[in-house]
Amino acid sequence: MSQPQHTELLGLCLQELSEISERLGEAPYRARQLFDGLYRQRWSELEQFTTLPRDLRQKLRDSGWTVGLPRIEKKFVSSDGTVRYLLGFADGQSVETVWMPEGDGGEAGDGSPSGDEELDCQRGWHRATLCLSSQVGCAVDCAFCMTALLGLRRNLTAGEIVGQVLVVLADQRVEMERDRLNLVFMGQGEPFLNYDNFMRAVRLLVEGVGIPESRMTVSTSGILPRIADFAAEPIRPKLAVSLNAPNEALRAQIMPITKKWTIEKLMVSLREFPLRNRERLTFEYVLLADVNDNVGHAREVVDLIRGLRAKVNLIALNPGPELPFATPEQERVLAFQRVLTQAGIPAFIRRPRGRDIYAACGQLKHSTELVQL
Ligand code: SAH
Ligand code: SF4
Repeated sequence: MSQPQHTELLGLCLQELSEISERLGEAPYRARQLFDGLYRQRWSELEQFTTLPRDLRQKLRDSGWTVGLPRIEKKFVSSDGTVRYLLGFADGQSVETVWMPEGDGGEAGDGSPSGDEELDCQRGWHRATLCLSSQVGCAVDCAFCMTALLGLRRNLTAGEIVGQVLVVLADQRVEMERDRLNLVFMGQGEPFLNYDNFMRAVRLLVEGVGIPESRMTVSTSGILPRIADFAAEPIRPKLAVSLNAPNEALRAQIMPITKKWTIEKLMVSLREFPLRNRERLTFEYVLLADVNDNVGHAREVVDLIRGLRAKVNLIALNPGPELPFATPEQERVLAFQRVLTQAGIPAFIRRPRGRDIYAACGQLKHSTELVQL
């Protein structure tokens, strides 16, 4: 029998698994068992698929199939409970995935911590946010982001994106029925420059793993053609846009992509974006001391987004050794926030999570290579 093109099962949808099982002369329901084993049970080896007959497992192995979960290469635990995972793939590349018990206020909810749920005493959390990478490195080159310093190494496959979730859920012993989990596509990479794999991963996470799309948020630096595609998706996460500056000149300085897709065009596409019931757009705004953080800038933001159903997440810069910017004082962050809230725009300050282990926004850069902890 000829070797299949793909050797990894993870990333395949039910239809594709059906084709494999049919080629192997198996009954159609075997594909569903395979799908459940991969995405619901999170089995990592074909031997664990005990719902399948032994000879089918053998046939799969003989045709070169493996499950294809990433390996946990390193795990850094922050004093605030955040865990940064370094996950390795078959070709030796790796990415970072960040587990935040209690989230950081930037996830799919309204940004305010909910204090009324009971804490799970043994594990210390009942609600968590997982921050996923979509590429190894990033080509977008924002001046304040450590991932940019890596450049783009490669896109992740859909299986590698879903694999990050499965590995961490297993490691944290998450039970989907009991635990409240949010996913944010805000790790390494620009998801909209790996659009097809990213969207395939979303569908598998919804249909296979069982995470509702309403608990997922994707953040983009503003890849306009893909925002239009995303608007037309029947299944999609919520949309966050990294604004980071209130006018073209300033944004072009810190986000060179603005020269290609201007704020003006970005705002046109966002005004056309079809929001669902009760859905809001999110704008991310990294505050850089004395660059984009004064109250005048905040007023410009108000003018820019007035009339949109949106909220703003403010992130004081998470510092990095090679970054030529400073973190603003808390008072300036609060003053910025006040201008927005007084204008009726909900604005939340993201709690920095895991700064001590370089797990916070913009700090993901294979930091084992670059930062000795
Ligand atoms: N590439 C996508 C998603 C990943 S970046 C995007 O840019 O939207 C996730 C968020 O981290 C973005 O909003 C980005 O503006 C922010 N960020 C990047 N570097 C940061 C830093 N050093 N400190 C704080 N936030 C940062
Ligand atoms: Fe890429 Fe986002 Fe970092 Fe910009 S902020 S370099 S788009 S990961």
